[in-house]
Amino acid sequence: MSGPEKISATGKVGLTDTSLSDIAKLATKNFGAGHLADYIPALRDVDPHQFGLAVIGCDGETHSCGNADTRFSIQSISKLFSLTLALRLVGVDFWKRVMRNPSMNRFNSISDLETNAGIPSNPFVNAGAIVVSDAIVSRSSAPNRFVLDFMRTLSGKGDIYSNDKVASDEAELGHRNFALAYLLKDYGNIDNKVDDVLSLYFSNCAIEMSCTELASAALFLANDGVDPKSGTQIITSDETRELNALLTTSGMYNGSGEFAFRIGLPAKSGVGGGILAVVPQQMSICVWSPELDIYGNLVVGQFVLEYLVQNLGISIF
Ligand code: GLN
Repeated sequence: MSGPEKISATGKVGLTDTSLSDIAKLATKNFGAGHLADYIPALRDVDPHQFGLAVIGCDGETHSCGNADTRFSIQSISKLFSLTLALRLVGVDFWKRVMRNPSMNRFNSISDLETNAGIPSNPFVNAGAIVVSDAIVSRSSAPNRFVLDFMRTLSGKGDIYSNDKVASDEAELGHRNFALAYLLKDYGNIDNKVDDVLSLYFSNCAIEMSCTELASAALFLANDGVDPKSGTQIITSDETRELNALLTTSGMYNGSGEFAFRIGLPAKSGVGGGILAVVPQQMSICVWSPELDIYGNLVVGQFVLEYLVQNLGISIF
């Protein structure tokens, strides 16, 4: 297998068509190593043997392979974008409501929240993202549309949607998220009605985007908070550094330590099988393959990222 070219000093992505097809082969070889998310029919019924990769440089250089343009359920990858919006809306005061520490418990742990007296460990565990949703609901008259519009603007794709069936299945079967939201409410860390807050949370999880669209939407995180496509400052450079730190310590939940050890990039996973990773000052990478490991992070995607990091020398460590 011929590897990618090393990343060049000018920050060029350094991938060739040959290396991309080698990566696709590596992905296919690892099909079957994980399991599908099975808590809602829409995720359980996905064809598990799919794989997509998109790598986009801050200068727009784009490489992709496999099902890079197939839309999938972004699930918890949305937490990164809703946090960005909450920081824009609330600023530094947002951090009175959520901590910035990794959690060794599962992403939907009730005991984690109870132990911390209603202050979620970080904004990427479900409880933290529910507080993020509450902050947005307090400041928008049409919050679901508000987040969707943000995703459309960042990706440049006006037809991005939230899958209503996925959102309603999440609402019907997401008992644990209701439990977390009511516990947060009991601790006074939710201002709005639980149903309204979770409606936004579930709608965000149900957004469908492709690897190419997600990698494009995240470019501001690789570029000091400025979307290089439009020149718009999305968040400040300090907030971008902080967000990348949080992605590194908590973006892969209680698998974040293992992910830092193997790959070493700020990244956010979702149970739909996507991982969105940031290479500060250089590029964003999105990989999708639906089979998950025990932490709820994707198996094939981690092999692919490991390969990319080793061959391009792009780990932040
Ligand atoms: N919809 C899922 C949930 O709320 C999202 C979790 C995830 O992607 N890790 O449980």
